[in-house]
Amino acid sequence: MSKTYIELNRTGDKMPLVGYGCWKVDNKDCEETIYNAIKTGYRLIDGAAVYENEVEVGRGINKAIKEGIVKREDLFIVTKLWNTYHHKSHVRPAFDRSLKDMGLDYIDLYLIHFPVPIKYVDPAVKYPGGWIEEGAKDIAYERSPIHETWAEMEKLVDDKVARNIGVSNFNVMALLDLFTYCRYKPATLQVELHPYLQQKRLVEWVQKQGIAVTAYSSFGPASYVSLNEEGKTAKPLLTHEVVQQVASKYGKSAGQVLLRWSVQRNVAVIPKSMNVDRLKSNLDIFDWTLEQQDVDAINQLEMGARFNDTVTYGFDLPLFD
Ligand code: NAD
Repeated sequence: MSKTYIELNRTGDKMPLVGYGCWKVDNKDCEETIYNAIKTGYRLIDGAAVYENEVEVGRGINKAIKEGIVKREDLFIVTKLWNTYHHKSHVRPAFDRSLKDMGLDYIDLYLIHFPVPIKYVDPAVKYPGGWIEEGAKDIAYERSPIHETWAEMEKLVDDKVARNIGVSNFNVMALLDLFTYCRYKPATLQVELHPYLQQKRLVEWVQKQGIAVTAYSSFGPASYVSLNEEGKTAKPLLTHEVVQQVASKYGKSAGQVLLRWSVQRNVAVIPKSMNVDRLKSNLDIFDWTLEQQDVDAINQLEMGARFNDTVTYGFDLPLFD
């Protein structure tokens, strides 16, 4: 059995290499799905205020704790600060709202979701805020520097309500800048990563800084089919012949191969599934290893294809350029 966690900088907390991703888990089934995920063996739950299901995620977590399936300290709960709450006066209230919605008293890892400060939306009017205001054509920005947002994130650590803090969708430039003022380095960076978008230099550099990397959208276009043209037209990774061939060689599924490919780079994964069999198989990737020739074959699939791109949603924001 290979290692199933990454030790985080500063705290030494063990972040599981496989977690459960909560994006698009519908509210109706969410409590049961999270409860089942924990029952199946998931210990990391990756949520976000903007997924609009923190209440149900929290219910699933608390049900599992109440039934004695796990203790709170066995779980690693992740959630994220949405873009409309970057202002220094809004970070703590946004964090507290997530905590209250989930019915928890601390978070294991709190991430800045995007390095994009968007004009505040009062939760009394709409919660959570989105990318654009109702009726608007494009994003309205807010002059909230990330150093002020990060200082507030650090206070959550000082106040012992967030054990670890990190970032998502940041690039090297944004991280370098953050290193010039931070008291606590980010524990993790969460970015889009799959064989079509391997970001090899970013991953290796970030890992060298002592920051753990988490991949989102490990199955590439799978969750973007209904969201953008890129997701609709890209060849699915899960049925790609190279991935299929590797899968049949090991007697595993394509999904398992894609997840194993990632954890073999010491990159954590957070696949989302509502299907109990897939939930189980996505966890079952630690007692076998891809041979280098198969890793090389999958690496050949690189094509710089990014699916979670603000431009493809119609916003005038080439965030990753
Ligand atoms: P994903 O790559 O996990 O793919 C999900 C899709 O794959 C679903 O349609 C699911 O039914 C299917 N699937 C899951 N397991 C499978 C298997 N074994 N075989 C075949 N199909 C399978 O999708 P994702 O939701 O894009 O990413 C995972 C998580 O990453 C999210 O839930 C969220 O927590 C996180 N995320 C974060 C960001 C960010 O900006 N930080 C962005 C996107 C996603």
